[in-house]
Amino acid sequence: MYWEKELEVLDHKNLEKLQAERLMKTLRQAVNSPYYGRIPEISHAIKTGINSIEQISELPFTTKEDLRKDFPWGFLSTDKREVVRLHSSSGTTGNPTVVYHNRHDLSSWANLMARSLFAAGVRDTDVFQNMAGYGLFTGGLGFQYGVEMLGCLSIPAGAGNSLRQIKLMRDYGTTVAHAIPSYLGRLYDVFKEEGLDPRKDTKLHTLVIGAEPHTEEHRQRIEEMFGVKAYNSFGLSEMNGPGVAFECTEQNGLHIWEDAYVVEIIDPITLQPVADGEIGELVMTTLDRVAMPVIRYRTRDLTRFLPGECKCGRTHRRIDRIAGRSDDMFIMKGCNVFPMQIEGVLMKLSEVGDDYRILLETINDQDEMIVEVEVKKDWFKGDLSFLDKLQKHITHLIRDEVLVRPLIKLVEPGSIPKTEGKAVRVFDHRKK
Ligand code: ADP
Ligand code: ZN
Repeated sequence: MYWEKELEVLDHKNLEKLQAERLMKTLRQAVNSPYYGRIPEISHAIKTGINSIEQISELPFTTKEDLRKDFPWGFLSTDKREVVRLHSSSGTTGNPTVVYHNRHDLSSWANLMARSLFAAGVRDTDVFQNMAGYGLFTGGLGFQYGVEMLGCLSIPAGAGNSLRQIKLMRDYGTTVAHAIPSYLGRLYDVFKEEGLDPRKDTKLHTLVIGAEPHTEEHRQRIEEMFGVKAYNSFGLSEMNGPGVAFECTEQNGLHIWEDAYVVEIIDPITLQPVADGEIGELVMTTLDRVAMPVIRYRTRDLTRFLPGECKCGRTHRRIDRIAGRSDDMFIMKGCNVFPMQIEGVLMKLSEVGDDYRILLETINDQDEMIVEVEVKKDWFKGDLSFLDKLQKHITHLIRDEVLVRPLIKLVEPGSIPKTEGKAVRVFDHRKK
């Protein structure tokens, strides 16, 4: 069962042909913007034409820094009157990055979102509660319009306020909900405090989780807590937001919609494509956007193509869950460490709660990696020798995983300060 059968099962040769046509159209549109209007390779490609999608490698990359140039209108490729919405990042580190949409762009995005949810088994008979923040963050409105296009009863709950979320779920019989993974542990705790069990006291069968990195172990925990299937949803504002890549019911990686995007994975140092199946930086080009096409955008997200065909019949290639962002990685005592490596170790341990954070400190002129780990209530109260053993056990497991010996601090559940929105895992206070 497909949302748009012809496109979803199109064989790769024809998919590439479609991409080449759409790329040409995209370049013609992009060149109207002040930024791309100045890029000689783009005018050149328009003159000589695109015969095969491989020619995309002749075009320059676009970086996050580029997107900030000529703020705020540098990438706008239409008349301002045509634009009907913008989404933008918070802009705490300089100019925000802003993305513009016209009516076509919004309906194309909603369609990708509906297609994604359909692939994850969501149907118009479902009641869909969106627990993502509405506003400039794309997880709110992005899901909203997709869910409406699909035809579910939508509940635009917004983020936070767990008691209300639970009441909405129970009052209206929510069957599918969307949230960032780091919120779901907290929501579960509130269920328990209320003497409720989400497995018995709700009709939930599916959770959609995304917008921030999480491990397979974390997904499994969420599935167990809520008694649901949890599907990974990937997207970024520069490429619309959610609806870029999504797991189908096979749960074996995320189909990335290749009729709407050209997808490349490159070595971030050499900028050349990585060998098939190797991890690299995801680079994406919009193929169906009018107000603001973006060409060869360096997402900084690290992933790889997964081999083989998917049993669901969709031909769009699958990427692996995001291993992290290249800028999440930190160097500790000469070793490259990704926070997700540490999460992977912690989430396997049943005594460990859902929250943790990594503090990088300089102590007596030595750099140290302190990992604060919340321990579940039942275990935290337990005897001290048990906690001592647990601490040593975690120290060894993390050392083996990242090759750096951490200082493990076991803390009470709920004691790690919560961040608004996406979880922040790493705090670097080292003397430079
Ligand atoms: P910001 O860059 O401010 O976080 P976005 O909301 O556009 O703004 O976030 C997009 C980023 O979120 C992606 O580039 C990626 O790093 C992360 N992300 C989104 N979905 C997932 C996912 N399913 N798994 C891992 N990371 C994700
Ligand atoms: Zn599939």
